[in-house]
Amino acid sequence: MLKRLTLSTTSRTQFLNITSKVAELIHSSGIRDGLCVVYVPHTTAGVTINECADPSVAGDILAELNKIIPFNNGYRHLEGNSAAHIKTCLVGTSCHVPLERGEMALGTWQGIFFCEFDGPRQRTVTVKIIGN
Ligand code: ZN
Repeated sequence: MLKRLTLSTTSRTQFLNITSKVAELIHSSGIRDGLCVVYVPHTTAGVTINECADPSVAGDILAELNKIIPFNNGYRHLEGNSAAHIKTCLVGTSCHVPLERGEMALGTWQGIFFCEFDGPRQRTVTVKIIGN
């Protein structure tokens, strides 16, 4: 089953916790065991799984990515958003989570973050829910 989320980001770079939105799609699918693939069909945004209990963790990750990959650094890409393309390469554009009894088998502290690197803009996340 293929489902989509539409997100509106509000900053140039931003981590959005989408765990509950993905969980709603899984619940509405009725699939209880299998695999959930969260896929971002963009070249300047990605997705990652990391700690969501303390929001400052995502803030620290984003701040460090912005530090090690400056917005301007003599890049040749004329669109002016090479930093966003590079950050997307680092975090990747998909995550997969096992499903167990209708829930994602995430670790206690884990959450799914949509990673905006060239916002603000409207984005799409594709969620594939596969039953076994
Ligand atoms: Zn570009």
